[in-house]
Amino acid sequence: MKYIKKQIPDSFPFSYYAVDILIFGFILWSLAKIKFSLSAITVLKQLTYMIFFTIFALGYISLITRENGLKKKLFSLASHDELTHSKNYTIFEIELKHQFKNSIQNQKPLTMAMFDIDHFKLVNDTFGHLAGDKVLATVVDIVQTIINENDPTISLYRTGGEEFNIIFPGYSINKTDTFINQVRLAINHTTIIYNQETEQQQIDITISIGISEVNQDDLNSQMFYDRVDQAMYQSKRDGRNRITKK
Ligand code: GH3
Ligand code: MG
Ligand code: MG
Repeated sequence: MKYIKKQIPDSFPFSYYAVDILIFGFILWSLAKIKFSLSAITVLKQLTYMIFFTIFALGYISLITRENGLKKKLFSLASHDELTHSKNYTIFEIELKHQFKNSIQNQKPLTMAMFDIDHFKLVNDTFGHLAGDKVLATVVDIVQTIINENDPTISLYRTGGEEFNIIFPGYSINKTDTFINQVRLAINHTTIIYNQETEQQQIDITISIGISEVNQDDLNSQMFYDRVDQAMYQSKRDGRNRITKK
């Protein structure tokens, strides 16, 4: 039943199938009436059964598909951030634990990066909260585009206001170098244009990044997370707009 439910689409064209079945049934019973010289009463009875059966069967399928679509929509709402549409902290915690366990059990490398927009409060204070929102959405667009171009198994999460995490399943820390540099440079070189009433504002931002790989001393995913967090704060302390590996 679980397998069948997985295969079910999110919407079901009830009337489309109902009309098809009823036309087909009507033709079939008309032919049967001629071939077997059935009485009109018998044919009418069979057609009535067929109508009830069609409504019942298609109605049931329709109900399951609607429930399936609703579940998917609710899951997506609960696991994604409304503003940027990236995955949120709730799903980050679940997926980090899962990836960590998988990395330890199968001795596969796992790397995570954390980045935070530098002086983001200043962006809000200077250009307004809506401009800040546009900056957040643009940052997600940039990083997600780089992910899509490189490797869709890499995942981006908005884990705080202007703080993000990237999980690289199966990646050693050195394997992420090109990707991380690409992200930092792309964000550095992007000027976000924000239209403020009559004025057009140009916003430039930088990010501070921390990055680390799971090691044998990590007893749980929290220890791994803490090291990535410390690496990010080291980048802040060292002057921002940089990458720190730990
Ligand atoms: P630092 O370089 O040390 O990271 O400084 P910062 O100003 O970026 O950091 P701080 O923690 O002082 O400020 C973060 C700001 O992010 C404060 C908060 O109002 C803002 N913020 C959080 N979530 C949102 C959001 O969804 N939209 C907007 N526009 N601002 C947000
Ligand atoms: Mg910040
Ligand atoms: Mg922050």
